Amino acid sequence: MPKLTAYGGAGTATGANFLLEFTSSSSELKTTRVLVDCGMLQGLADAPSINRERFQYDASSVDTLFVTHAHIDHIGLIPKLYAEGFRGEIYSIPETKEIAKLLLADAAKINNADETPLYTYNDISGAMDLWKTIAYHVPKDFGEFKVELYDAGHILGSAMIKFTSKNGSTILCTGDIGNSPSVLLPDTEKVSGLDYLLIESVYGDKNHEDRELREARFKQVVEESISRGGTLLIPAFSLERTQVILYELNKLFESKSIPSVPVYLDSPLAIKVTEIFEHVRDLYNKNTQNEIKKDNNIFKFSQLKETASIRDSREIAKVSGPKIIIAGSGMSTAGRIVGHEEMFLPDKNSTLLLVGYQGVGTLGRQIEEGVRSVVIDGNKIEVRARVEKIEGFSGHADSNALVDFVSESKDTLKKVFVAMGEPKSSIFLAQRLRDELEVDAVVTEKGKVYEIDL
Ligand SMILES: [Zn+2]
Repeated sequence: MPKLTAYGGAGTATGANFLLEFTSSSSELKTTRVLVDCGMLQGLADAPSINRERFQYDASSVDTLFVTHAHIDHIGLIPKLYAEGFRGEIYSIPETKEIAKLLLADAAKINNADETPLYTYNDISGAMDLWKTIAYHVPKDFGEFKVELYDAGHILGSAMIKFTSKNGSTILCTGDIGNSPSVLLPDTEKVSGLDYLLIESVYGDKNHEDRELREARFKQVVEESISRGGTLLIPAFSLERTQVILYELNKLFESKSIPSVPVYLDSPLAIKVTEIFEHVRDLYNKNTQNEIKKDNNIFKFSQLKETASIRDSREIAKVSGPKIIIAGSGMSTAGRIVGHEEMFLPDKNSTLLLVGYQGVGTLGRQIEEGVRSVVIDGNKIEVRARVEKIEGFSGHADSNALVDFVSESKDTLKKVFVAMGEPKSSIFLAQRLRDELEVDAVVTEKGKVYEIDL
């Protein structure tokens, strides 16, 4: 019987790493080992040491790795998998591969500052050589199973992966599910008739309140910040969130809805990722595709200054008057945003705008929870700036949307494996699925082997 084991992404929102084992029914007993995602654990204090531990399976025995999307908590340990002997094939949507190459190189830069690097640039290029691409809705036969990718609507190139066994049974691994309707992307596809489902639960216990109001709220925060004459800091993931913010600012400036102030995109990585977004056409939703036809570049406007170099970045602090700074990392754990926070958090005229999920243990989470004093670079920093939060830009489906997604297959589902969330979120979602849809839903335990009847 096929087996599913979570080696990461169980009991935590990050570090997705799931192993599917298919045993051949033919006379020679052969097991095909398939991984879904190979992500880095993030946020937790002991994450760096856990990321360093050897995989609990033999990496060289893995035949194929499928990658749902290019967030580092889904791809971050792929070069380590290569370093431990993985030489199988990797598959994803083409844009996921392109973005992953940038993000992994960036992660390696941070890692190589340590004494023993987690992996090297050679491991990245080795993994890239094994990486093939596959389009949405083009079924591919792998012998023991068939694979088809569906649009998850989470970030550019994000896919849900459906495995179909030889007897026609199915399991869908969602990766992260989008918060539809998304600003840029098409809605998450509905998938029905599934036998098994491995589903994320980042917002398993919460609903987004302000999605309908997100654009109005964003405009309001920007306007208020400009009128106070302070600096608006927006910590944003380089991938997707930054492009959504640029898109919103572009609309506000071009319609002259807000005063003209300088905007700094202060992240070399986000600048490069935005270039990939600029070349994409057909992966956006209809509305965005129409706007691209009119505007050509929906991520650029005359107020925008890209400060790739350290020298240009340092100049930002010298600019007086109202301004907007977008920088990573999204949870203020590293990157240039931290330096800006050190400078502007004590300023009562400045504003910090949180537009994404803030993981447990991060500086972003402390600020979100209203801590009035934080430690940055060993210095005690008073938080006098306003802290605003817009949850509607979240890239994750909320609790109601997750239940709706599962309900599409409620009559056929044999079991739902709830994963990729903090324990309270996963437990809450599993309970809702049992109560409201009467499906067998379990909170996936790390390392436990689940037999599935595919
Ligand atoms: Zn994600």
